[in-house]
Amino acid sequence: MFKINDNYLKLPGSYLFSTIGKKVAAFKEENPDKDVISLGIGDVTQPLAPAVIKALHDAVDEMSKAETFHGYAPDLGYEFLRRAIADNDYRARGVEIALDEIFVSDGAKSDSGNIVDIFSEDNVIAVTDPVYPVYVDSNAMSGKTGEYWKDKECWSNVIYMPCMAENNFVPELPEKTPDIIYICCPNNPTGTTLTKEDLQKWVSYANEKKAVIIYDAAYEAYISEDNVPHSIYECDGAKTCAIEMRSFSKNAGFTGTRLGFTIVPKELKSGDVSLNSLWARRHGTKFNGAPYIIQRAGEAVYSEEGKAQTKEQIAFYMKNAKNIREGLSDMGYTVFGGVNAPYIWLQTPDGMKSWDFFDLLLEKANVVGTPGSGFGPSGEGYFRLTAFGSAENTEKALERIKKL
Ligand code: PLP
Repeated sequence: MFKINDNYLKLPGSYLFSTIGKKVAAFKEENPDKDVISLGIGDVTQPLAPAVIKALHDAVDEMSKAETFHGYAPDLGYEFLRRAIADNDYRARGVEIALDEIFVSDGAKSDSGNIVDIFSEDNVIAVTDPVYPVYVDSNAMSGKTGEYWKDKECWSNVIYMPCMAENNFVPELPEKTPDIIYICCPNNPTGTTLTKEDLQKWVSYANEKKAVIIYDAAYEAYISEDNVPHSIYECDGAKTCAIEMRSFSKNAGFTGTRLGFTIVPKELKSGDVSLNSLWARRHGTKFNGAPYIIQRAGEAVYSEEGKAQTKEQIAFYMKNAKNIREGLSDMGYTVFGGVNAPYIWLQTPDGMKSWDFFDLLLEKANVVGTPGSGFGPSGEGYFRLTAFGSAENTEKALERIKKL
């Protein structure tokens, strides 16, 4: 008889965004006349930049001729893209990353899900809490998180590092020593960041404990403050303890196009074993590569035109973020984030539970947000709004929230 991976059976309910989707669908069915505005799911709405569209068209044309046709992509990704990444994302910030330390992929979600493959089951993971749920879920699917405690809505073998208003959203070094530490900066959902000094503490700690940091910089392009690092490799010693993930989704609108990359430095080792070679082995075997056409589109993001056009998109979202932040603040809400990230994190009024506030907002204002508790136990009593809507809808949503 075949047997399933029963770690899947331990997973709680459905993925956060499927639950939200179902609730919203049911509400719309019962209220077909209501105009529901979504400031919930973290998907972008601006179209791909003209420079990217041109690169896509050109690459499609290349595929039509035998002389310029491209089949399977190289395991690590095309050199033209890895070179653009090394030059623009790293060298321009004083960080040297070798081309064979860059692994191009179809997005940071896949990489977050897949990276767990190269770590054994008995690793103890630590996550900042609340955080992007994919880290814990992927580890749960591969049996690294122990049992799920339904009453506490957390896993027995995960170290949760609370990030709340009380500690200014900066996690404290944990009492129990973790093996794998997840840090997302700028953070989804809180929109908050660590300063270089804060991050340096984590890098030194990880080196001291021989732990690895998995650093998710998917929102790097939204950083507006000078003391927030754009890469963990800006910190001393990070190459011996950190993997960094990046995405083209939020900086250039590739959520549907799919492109990302992960840096695994050659100095990063477990005993004598280099994680770079393990990941290269996995990448070569289990990953088909991001398509040539898409990698050319990614390259165009780094062209002068591409940089200017994607910068405009980010400015557009950040204007929404500013409006939401200031609008809610004027209404008396306590709000965080929205300065270095497209997320606004608010404290629910009168200590309401996150899901109760979700229902209130949906039913009375017809606005969809994301309950903070869906991102981890410390998210209870908080709520996430995103800046990815249109300017008009964002304004409309604020007017409705004001009337609550
Ligand atoms: N990392 C974080 C922190 C995210 O919030 C998201 C998407 O919302 C992703 C990664 C997914 O990135 P990608 O679209 O490249 O898979």
